[in-house]
Amino acid sequence: MLARTDDIEEAVGVLRAGGLVALPTETVYGLGANAEDAAAVARIFHVKGRPPTHPLIVHIGGARQLDEWVEEVPETARLLAERFWPGPLTLVLRRGARVPLEATGGLQTVAVRVPDHPVALALLAAFGGGITAPSANRFGSVSPTTADDVRAELGDAVDLVLDGGACQVGVESTIVDVTGDVPAILRPGGVTREDLEAVLGRPLAVPSASPVRVPGQHPSHYAPRARVVLVEPDQVAAAAEQAYESGQRVGVFLPAAFAGTPVKAHAVAAVPASLDAYARELYGFLRELDRQGCDLIVASLPVEEGLGLALANRLRRAAGPRSTV
Ligand code: AMP
Ligand code: MG
Repeated sequence: MLARTDDIEEAVGVLRAGGLVALPTETVYGLGANAEDAAAVARIFHVKGRPPTHPLIVHIGGARQLDEWVEEVPETARLLAERFWPGPLTLVLRRGARVPLEATGGLQTVAVRVPDHPVALALLAAFGGGITAPSANRFGSVSPTTADDVRAELGDAVDLVLDGGACQVGVESTIVDVTGDVPAILRPGGVTREDLEAVLGRPLAVPSASPVRVPGQHPSHYAPRARVVLVEPDQVAAAAEQAYESGQRVGVFLPAAFAGTPVKAHAVAAVPASLDAYARELYGFLRELDRQGCDLIVASLPVEEGLGLALANRLRRAAGPRSTV
């Protein structure tokens, strides 16, 4: 059932008492704590099994509160906040004294955003402070996009799960570092590079496909239990068949261009033609193919334009080496 006023009040109580609340946002569900409560923040890392050096995002209720959380707000940050908040854009700025180092993984910078979801905004307004929240999944696994995903992933380890329905964007926020002279995209996400560049009037650097050396970024992030292999779109059916014949339990992400093509596989996820829809479905597909017991998922990359950049980034990471970094 969707969260109501009573649930918001209960969630505020949990946050004030140092507990953890899973909350819906437009990107994915977050595992939230009072951003100023170092012990509560430490619990997030414990519950997720996340290394303490991986910084979290501080969620705030509106762009006007930004000054309270950072040392200074450069003009670029103001411009981006004004244009994209509430929305799937996270800004990395110099840390304000209010933010405990536990939330930033020891860094002197802090990541901040205003989520675009009525339940998250109602909670932030009622709570009054900042809520630091990573995605509400165990470290390295697929981010949850429904309240049921969160319950399946974290169970009793979270004090309260607010249900806000299925996430409308479905992939994490775009992270832009605005501490330097030139803004840089640290992670592609729900706000496209093209939209950022249009507002800033300049091209932005994006991370390469190779393993990224940004805090909190590892190749094996967003990974389902099944092994993911990436092939060219016109090779998906053949690669799936080959694996099927060799006795593997195969799941397929069938590209929209090949919709209706018969595929030999145990489970087929039909990739939508629209990138918006694909982003909304991506993590659900990965979870579903895991549920169906697939050993292997055969997929291809979308064209890396618009949301395709974030989708390709997540698929590459899902297919990345399962190192324990
Ligand atoms: P998650 O919510 O699990 O997607 O994680 C939040 C992400 O924000 C991390 O993976 C980091 O890459 C990024 N992040 C948070 N704070 C910072 C920061 N101060 N500098 C760079 N990246 C950050
Ligand atoms: Mg995450």
